[in-house]
Amino acid sequence: MGFHDECGVVGIYGAENAAALSYFALTSLQHRGQESAGIAVSDGETIHLHKDMGLVSDVFDKDHFEDLKGSVAVGHVRYATAGGRTIENAQPFLNTFKLGGIALAHNGQLVNYEPLREMLEDSGSTFSSTSDTEVILKLIARSYKKGLEAAVVNTIQLIKGSYALCIMTEDTVIGVRDPNGIRPLCLGKIAGAHNGKDAYILASESCAIDSCNGEFVRDIEPGEIIIINKNGLKSIHLEERTKKQTCIFEYVYFARPDSVIDGIPVQEARYRMGKVLAEESPVEADVVIGVPDSGIGAAQGYARASGIPYVTGIIKNKYIGRTFIAPTQKERENMVFVKLNAIRSDLEGKRVIVIDDSIVRGTTSRRLVQILRRAGAKEVHFRVSSSPVKFPCYLGIDTPSKNELISSTHELEEIRKEIGADSLAFISLEGMIKAFGEDTFCKGCFSGEYPVACARKV
Ligand code: SF4
Repeated sequence: MGFHDECGVVGIYGAENAAALSYFALTSLQHRGQESAGIAVSDGETIHLHKDMGLVSDVFDKDHFEDLKGSVAVGHVRYATAGGRTIENAQPFLNTFKLGGIALAHNGQLVNYEPLREMLEDSGSTFSSTSDTEVILKLIARSYKKGLEAAVVNTIQLIKGSYALCIMTEDTVIGVRDPNGIRPLCLGKIAGAHNGKDAYILASESCAIDSCNGEFVRDIEPGEIIIINKNGLKSIHLEERTKKQTCIFEYVYFARPDSVIDGIPVQEARYRMGKVLAEESPVEADVVIGVPDSGIGAAQGYARASGIPYVTGIIKNKYIGRTFIAPTQKERENMVFVKLNAIRSDLEGKRVIVIDDSIVRGTTSRRLVQILRRAGAKEVHFRVSSSPVKFPCYLGIDTPSKNELISSTHELEEIRKEIGADSLAFISLEGMIKAFGEDTFCKGCFSGEYPVACARKV
């Protein structure tokens, strides 16, 4: 898989230990971003922030929690999409204005970042980063004197793109999901979190609510703004502009298998895509294996539907961080040998069906086939649980440009030869939709049609 994860956000209201709960939640969202992590907490009067480059467990130690006391918090884990990979772009962003502080955590990407930034600079705003998130923060600040709610509504009407936001002031947390619901955001409750009262949690995925021992309440709807403060919960809908088109790759690859997004369990979606793939592209073989982590659900679905036994076959080294150094291009390409290895006893002398979630550049797939053959696989049949990725994403996922996407530049048979497999098949786009039983997704990287218009990456 050549896509990179995106970001994870969390918001906590009304917990005695909002920073600790944010820490748990962010740890469970770590798969969404490993470059930087941060938590902002309000003690009722001031917002305190700590953020740094690295994994959640590297960024925070016991001493930080001494300075992060309070019951309202937002947190973020980041993989850079818009903006560079520097500490200046780490989130949450915090600004203190005449009327108080605002901290903001964002998962997604604005497509009209440049004109908005230019407009703000022309009217005197200064920026400390190259992140589109800072633009959202400055827009909220600009109309903050009309009240927080009005400022957020005004801002939402100006920004275009994908966004799941957790915003906080000293005494309020706000969650926002873009009008197409491209990035996920859900709401949970944590029983008895402060003097016997319940706390609320907003998070990118439901697994973060589970990690706080909370109870899932519901998904935030596309175009919904949810405001949580001492008056309880208030929801505002920007109904005239909404149409659900959640990123289908959340299910294919990004989200954790134990999460449920918009009522669809991620692992169940992967099983079903594997099942459809088996129906569409059967092949005689002895075993089915999945490329960890996200190929496993689809492989189990394929095995179940085809009656061919599922075996583990491949092991992933879980301890390679983003900072692992591979100095040359060749070494970077060979990284897959460090990340993945085959289990010879599962594969030797067997005809193997291997399921991966996608093929992006093709480099990883080629190495993978080599690994399987080296472990004695007699035949390698490559099956892919997403359709060919032909177009880049500009809605929050870091993809290569179009001419680096192998499905954009090569025909199926050419790709098969390139990766060295005995056969190759992708699930069809119709098959993906059939697996879900509904068509409420962004499928831009397969079709080139995106929910939000934008200048194309080439
Ligand atoms: S273009 Fe692809 S990766 Fe980007 S949001 Fe749409 S489905 Fe997701």
